[in-house]
Amino acid sequence: MKVIILGAGSHGLSLAYHLLKEGVDVTLVEKGEVNHGSSGRNAGRFRYHFNSKQNIEYAKEAIPYLLSICQELPLNPFCSRTGYLWILDEEEIERMKLLDSLWRSEGVGGEFIDCSQFSFLKEGKCYYAPQDGSFHHDYLSLGLYIEIAKMGGKLVRGEALSFLTSGGKVVGVKTNNGEIEGDVIAVTLGAWTGEFMSRNGISLPIKPEKREIFITEGVKFRIKPLVIGNGFYFSQTLKGELIGGADYAKEASGMDVSLIDAIDFISFIRRTVRNLDGVRLLRGWSGYYEITPDHSHIMGFDPSWPEGLFVDAGYSGHGVMFSAYSGKVMSDVILGRRNKFLDVFSPSRFQMRRLLDENMVI
Ligand SMILES: Cc1cc2nc3c(=O)[nH]c(=O)nc-3n(C[C@H](O)[C@H](O)[C@H](O)COP(=O)(O)OP(=O)(O)OC[C@H]3O[C@@H](n4cnc5c(N)ncnc54)[C@H](O)[C@@H]3O)c2cc1C
Repeated sequence: MKVIILGAGSHGLSLAYHLLKEGVDVTLVEKGEVNHGSSGRNAGRFRYHFNSKQNIEYAKEAIPYLLSICQELPLNPFCSRTGYLWILDEEEIERMKLLDSLWRSEGVGGEFIDCSQFSFLKEGKCYYAPQDGSFHHDYLSLGLYIEIAKMGGKLVRGEALSFLTSGGKVVGVKTNNGEIEGDVIAVTLGAWTGEFMSRNGISLPIKPEKREIFITEGVKFRIKPLVIGNGFYFSQTLKGELIGGADYAKEASGMDVSLIDAIDFISFIRRTVRNLDGVRLLRGWSGYYEITPDHSHIMGFDPSWPEGLFVDAGYSGHGVMFSAYSGKVMSDVILGRRNKFLDVFSPSRFQMRRLLDENMVI
């Protein structure tokens, strides 16, 4: 079996890693650099805390799997349970109580605390989920890539333009750098997946949504969790920089960042974190969330598609944390094995109007 994987972000790399471990012939096609897309531009956090049972259950498989892969890789992605902390206003407390009962029933309940239990915050109401955590996204992807290269995986530079079919089956891919033969094509193009599929006559509801992210100069390390509140989120890197952004989307074009948003972010940090009145912003960049109508991913295939065509994309703002496990699930599916999540996250669910009730995009 010859598998062509389109896109060398965390999902394409994880799928390649798992297939190569099974002895499959794999070629990755990437138009930029490895990890050039959102997998190299994100906040590097993982969480169990979604508001649909299905995503929580997926996280309950995916996060332990991520933590175990972190131990296997030649680069250390520093995966650890550093927690998520929500700063709550009065209105959010009632909503959080409902979520807390769902999370408790799933075995991932947190606790309501006074924010000042974390010495970097002022008094107020907070919700703390210690099970969640952080990782270094580049070390995760590049660690996978080192293993892929060792196992003989190929990387072709080029933009995938269309898939080639014959007799209802895929037989290869046309790129701007020539054609590649293969009997399976896995589309892991992140935010570009919807556009690629539509160019090939298949409608798949994945829309790019631009998000900015900013980073400050390094200060003494004292903020372990990811903090979410008042329309912003932030955390601290092991180097001491505060990294985060606003939770609203920007118009999807280009990769620039807005000066006004940068000022909003640094003002929020100075207002919220004790003793950081003079902290300065170092830089900012942007990337794309890959939004689906139910803010949940799409994996597998649809029976109406050419045989051998698979998709794994649409992770909204939480794709890297799931990438290790999704690569394993997708590799199983391509090799003809079943997985309990395939029906739940199937591309067919949109036509069948079987959407998930998920809207927790951070
Ligand atoms: C600001 C920000 C913060 C985030 N924070 C988190 C977080 O804390 N935790 C988390 O889990 N997730 C987070 N995410 C989401 C996460 O980054 C994505 O869901 C994830 O990286 C998607 O991985 P991917 O491999 O599917 O896509 P990508 O990493 O985007 O990879 C797709 C690849 O396809 C390539 N490509 C595109 N078109 C073509 C083509 N036609 N031919 C060949 N190659 C092509 C691109 O160059 C790219 O390398 C964040 C995202 C952003 C933008």
